[in-house]
Amino acid sequence: MKILVTAGPTLEPIDPVRFVSNRSTGAMGFAVARVARQRGHKVVLISGPTHLALPRGVDFFPAETARQMCRKVLDNFSWADAVVMAAAVSDYRPVKPAAGKIKKTSPVLNLKLARNPDILRILAKQKAGKVLAGFALETENLYKNSLGKLKEKNLDIIVANRLAKGKDVFGGKKTSVLILDKNGSKKFLSSVSKTRVAAELLREIEKIKAPQNSAT
Ligand code: C5P
Repeated sequence: MKILVTAGPTLEPIDPVRFVSNRSTGAMGFAVARVARQRGHKVVLISGPTHLALPRGVDFFPAETARQMCRKVLDNFSWADAVVMAAAVSDYRPVKPAAGKIKKTSPVLNLKLARNPDILRILAKQKAGKVLAGFALETENLYKNSLGKLKEKNLDIIVANRLAKGKDVFGGKKTSVLILDKNGSKKFLSSVSKTRVAAELLREIEKIKAPQNSAT
């Protein structure tokens, strides 16, 4: 299969030296790209800035902002059989980044933020026969909220993470996830590596694309 994977955070400039972002390390998306390649798929990886080494044999396109990522994903969408959106896309961006470095002259600085495009939602509208997989990070009602997101974004699969108090899902070695598909199947993986999550997710995607010849 041809699999398009996104990873990492997006960085939304405030001025030439500052940005709004999040704590994503890119580890989950990079694991999906690496494991997909190992399973014999062709892989395009589009990622925000990370410190990770590129998996071997993967075509890579960097993207800094959500809008850049959106453009690159759309450029590669017709090529793909499946898309895994593991990127932690910033939901908002500063409306108008300052041309020069903002001076600390006032005691309060108001930042006005605009909504970024929801890449998965855009893809869902032109889905055709492609498999779409997304990730969700929820603080409560993991099952209900993730199932809602799966339906609302017209996804085939969602990998849901619970954000536990005092714990950081980003950067951690082990993770616990609930993998849901649109036919109601669910699988809970407790304290597993991101490599294992990637392998389970890819197995699900392979099953959707070729149900008759996929081994379990
Ligand atoms: O709605 P929420 O942001 O929780 O959904 C998360 C999923 O949506 C992830 O797969 C993420 O990559 C994707 N997403 C997106 N574009 C955005 C925000 C999130 O494609 N602007």
